[in-house]
Amino acid sequence: MLIDHYGRAITYLRISITDRCNLRCAYCQPASGLSWIPEDKLLNKDDFVRLAKAAASLGITKIRITGGEPLVHPDVLEIIERIGAIPGIQDLSLTSNAILLEEMAKPMAAAGLKRVNISLDTLDPEKYRRVTRFGDFNQAWKGIMAAEEAGLSPIKLNTVVVGGFNDDEIPALARLSLDHPWHIRFIELMPVANSNDWGNGLPPVNQRYVSVQTMHEMLADLSLEPEATSANSGPERTFRIPGAPGTVGFISPLGEHFCARCNRLRLTADGRLRSCLLVDKEISIRDAIKSGADLEAFLMKAVEEKPRGHELHDHNCPDTRCMSQIGG
Ligand code: SAM
Repeated sequence: MLIDHYGRAITYLRISITDRCNLRCAYCQPASGLSWIPEDKLLNKDDFVRLAKAAASLGITKIRITGGEPLVHPDVLEIIERIGAIPGIQDLSLTSNAILLEEMAKPMAAAGLKRVNISLDTLDPEKYRRVTRFGDFNQAWKGIMAAEEAGLSPIKLNTVVVGGFNDDEIPALARLSLDHPWHIRFIELMPVANSNDWGNGLPPVNQRYVSVQTMHEMLADLSLEPEATSANSGPERTFRIPGAPGTVGFISPLGEHFCARCNRLRLTADGRLRSCLLVDKEISIRDAIKSGADLEAFLMKAVEEKPRGHELHDHNCPDTRCMSQIGG
C-alpha cells in the first residue's frame, strides 16, 4: 500500500492516454498556439499497461483513463480491456466529452468499462459551441444517451462553473438528477494556465470564479440533503434532491481545501508522474518504462514527494501545462 508523508493512502491513478482532443474547451486549453506533444514523446498502449500493472502491485485499485480526449486514441478499447483485466484493479473508469460516445459506448462496455464521467458545461447548444469552441451539443447529448443504453453506470456529468457564463444554469443542471440516475458534479474553475482572454464573448478572468458556497446558495430552493461520504469518495461532497434518483456533487479545490482527502497520482501521456494536479512538480518515468526498468520505485518516489496540498491561496498556480495536457 502506498502511504504518503501525510498519512494519505494513495489508491487511485489517473492515466492520460493522449493530449489530443476533439474540442478546445476555453478553460482547458487555448484556442490556438498549443502544439500537440510530438508522437515520439508519447507513451504507447503497452507502456500504459505496464505502468498500470506496477501501480496495481503497489495497491492502486482505481484507475481512470483520461486525456485530452481518450476516445480519439486509436488503441483506447485495447487499453481499457487490458487495464481492466489487471488483478487488483477494482474500478476502471473513463472521462470523456461524449462526442464520440454515440458510436463507442457499446464497444467500450464490451471491452470492460463499467462507468464514465462526461464533461457537460451547459444545456444550451449555442453556449456549448462557444465554450468548446466548435462542439455540437446534440452530439454530446446523444453520447450520454448511448452511454446509458450501453449500461455504463453510474454516469457522472462534470460541469465546470464559470461566472457570467453558465452559473445561471446550475439549478437546471442539478435538476437533471430528478429525471435521470446521474451524478451531476459542479467543479470550481481551477486556475491552470487559463488566465488568458477566452474570446467567443466568454467572461474576463476576474468574473469567472464561482465558489461552491455560492453554488449552494443558488441551489437553496432544491433543499439538497447531504449523502454519507465513503472513504473512497475523494474530493467530492455529495448531496441529493429529496426523492431524486441521481445526486448533486461539488468539487472545490479553492472554496473548501480538498487536499487532505486526496488519494491520487497522475500519469501524463508523455510519461510524467504528477502527484498533485495543481503543483507543477513531475517525475519523468518515460525512459524507465521504455527501458524496462523497475517502475515501482518511481511510483514510490512520486508518492514520497506528494505535496501536502496545493498553494493556490498563495497565488502559486500551475502554469507549465494546461489541463488537457494533465488530464484533469
Ligand atoms: N476530454 C475529456 C473531458 O472533456 O472530460 C477528459 C479530459 S478533461 C481535461 C478532464 C476534466 O478536466 C474535465 O471534467 C474538465 O471539465 C476538467 N477541467 C479542465 N480544465 C479545468 C479547469 N480549468 N478547472 C476545472 N476543471 C477543469
